[in-house]
This record gives sequence, structure tokens and C-alpha cells, in this order.
Amino acid sequence: MQKTPFVLFGVPFHNVTFEEAIQWTIDRVRSGRPGVIATVNLDFLVLAQADPELRTVLREADLVIADGFPPVKLAPFFGPPLKGRVTGSDITPMLAERAEKEGISIYGLGAAEGVAAKAMEVLKKRHPNLKVAGAWSPPYAPLEQMEHAEILRRLDEAKPDILFTAFGAPKQDKFNHMHVKTWNVPVAIGIGGTLDFIAGVQTRAPVWVQKLQCEWLWRWGTNPKRLTKRYASNIAFLMRAVWLTMQLRLGRNIPAAVDSSAPPHWAEHGVEYHEFQSLEKLPEISAAKVVVDLRDAEWLESNEIGALLELSKRSEKTVLLHAGSRIRKLWEFSKLSDGLPLASNCTEALALLG
Ligand code: UDP
Repeated sequence: MQKTPFVLFGVPFHNVTFEEAIQWTIDRVRSGRPGVIATVNLDFLVLAQADPELRTVLREADLVIADGFPPVKLAPFFGPPLKGRVTGSDITPMLAERAEKEGISIYGLGAAEGVAAKAMEVLKKRHPNLKVAGAWSPPYAPLEQMEHAEILRRLDEAKPDILFTAFGAPKQDKFNHMHVKTWNVPVAIGIGGTLDFIAGVQTRAPVWVQKLQCEWLWRWGTNPKRLTKRYASNIAFLMRAVWLTMQLRLGRNIPAAVDSSAPPHWAEHGVEYHEFQSLEKLPEISAAKVVVDLRDAEWLESNEIGALLELSKRSEKTVLLHAGSRIRKLWEFSKLSDGLPLASNCTEALALLG
């Protein structure tokens, strides 16, 4: 599986098929190293614009899959195409099927009272040898007021291999992120309303509606009161995104002014300096602070931003220097500066690196 994600509007997506995502999950369970999967749809992109914590949660997730058509359709405008959508609602039963074959256990957490247990019952009926480690639907509460200690106690006792967390987005993903470094759950995945679908308390759109890429319309029709505001903001975001794409693709790039009279001795400041020429040349860093000079880059493809994001994760801090106007505009819209800040000149870069 390709490790470098494609970054769309500040959110990384891993370019995987269903089969690759399932295999990743099994490998991760076998590795024993806890990890999280986020299933990201258009609504996440909108929420992430206004929520720095959610941006961090998604950038630090171990696997991010495109749960919907909008990210898949937008991807080619910003770099290589994504292989396709990998929906939480579809991958959950597929994971249960594979878990049975692998002898791996699952746990359903969330949804309304009794729904998680009912969903696990349905899966067990479909796959008699499936190991269900447990199920619990804790009382609804804001994230900070949830019974974290009780949930962790139950998980500790049940020791599931795969945890299906269904508190809705972004609560479920913040919850998984909050605990992944301390709990012993090998893989936790946020699955939204999937337990409702499996338990049969909500009906998913018929396959022909899904094929027409209109599942969101179906959901809207079945729950207009709750979803109208969400979909209105999603459509507004999509329109702004298309407008930005046109501006960036057709507009002129104004390169950054480069003051080359007295470049600082980066090494003396404990900083590793690199020119950004191509993705392949991105280095294995050895210093904690890194500067990547973008003076020759007119544009950054989504996979190149993904590589820079990976680089920033490996370093204490990475700063991008001399970005032109197109990259700056993209950064501003995508809120990428909190992970990968831009500096106009060397002095600013050094100040940002502290
Ligand atoms: N849910 C929950 N706790 C909450 C809020 C929601 O367990 O505090 C459950 C809800 O019952 C549903 C699931 O989260 O089963 C997903 O909700 P939603 O339909 O909003 O998911 P999304 O559309 O965000 O994927």
C-alpha cells in the first residue's frame, strides 16, 4: 500500500481499495500496534475548515479512507486520482466477514441504546464463527462528558481486535484519537451510522441510488430536519472549492520574492535545508527542524503535499519557504499552515522554527 497520502483541502486521504484497506487492518491487528482509521466524507472537509482539533485528528490518523464521491471526484484536480471510494458502511460488514476468516474479534461501540448489541447479533448470525468481543451503546453525551473510564474498562475487559466506533463524526474520530496512544485496541474505525444500518433501525439507500451517487439525497429525504443545514454547508463548500480550483488552475502564479543576498547558515541554527525539486528527492531527514524551499515549485500536487506532511510528522517542525501565490492561496483555503507553516523569507522561517 502506498504510504504517502493525497492531501485534499488540508485532509490526507490514503489511496486504497476496499481490499487494501481490509488487508491494512488485518496487518495492523497482527502487528499489535494500536492504530485508527477515519472514514472521511465531504462533511469532514467542511468541519475541518473550522476545527483545528479535527484537522490534527485526521492528519494523525493511521489510515484515512474516502467515504464518498466528492473527495474522489475532486482528487484529479489536485493531483493523482484516488482509486475509488471506500465507504464505512460497506467496509464494516466486509471487515466482519474477513474477521471471521482470520479469527479476529470485533466490538460495536455507540449508537442508540441496544443498537450496537443488535448490530453485533446480526453480524454473528451472518458469520457464525465470528468472534464478537462485545457491544455497548453508552448514553449520548458531549465528548468531554462521556463515561470514558467506563468505556475503557469495558474495552480492557473485552480485548477486541477491531473496534467499530459509531458516535457520529467528528466525535467518534476525536474519541479514537484521544485514546489510541494509551489503549490496547489494535484497530479502531469511526463508522458513523453504520451500526444503525446493520441493526436495521435505519434503511440504507437502494443500490441503484448508491450507483447514481445520490445516497446523500436519499439520506436527506429520510431525515430532512437533521440534515438540511449539514448539506447546505456542504454544497456551499463544494461551490467554493470548485471556484478555488478554477482560480488556481487558470490563474497566474506570482513567484515569491527571493532574497538570496545573505542566506543564513541553516546548519548553525540546527536546521536542515532542502530545495523542493521533486517528490522522489524528498530526503530522509536527520535534523529536528527542517526548511523546504519552494522557490522552484509553481504548484504542489496532492501527493507532494502528502509527502511534505509526512516529512513534518517525522521532524519536530517543518517550514516551507518562498511559496508562490498559487500555493499560498491553496494553503489559506485548506488551512494547511497549522501543520506546514509558510515563511516568506529566511528570518521568518527561523522565527517559525523557534
Ligand atoms: N451517536 C452516538 N452518540 C452521540 C451521537 C450520535 O452514539 O452522541 C450515534 C447515532 O445513534 C448514530 C451514529 O452515532 O448511530 C451516527 O450518527 P450520524 O448519523 O450523525 O453519523 P454520520 O452521518 O455523522 O456518519
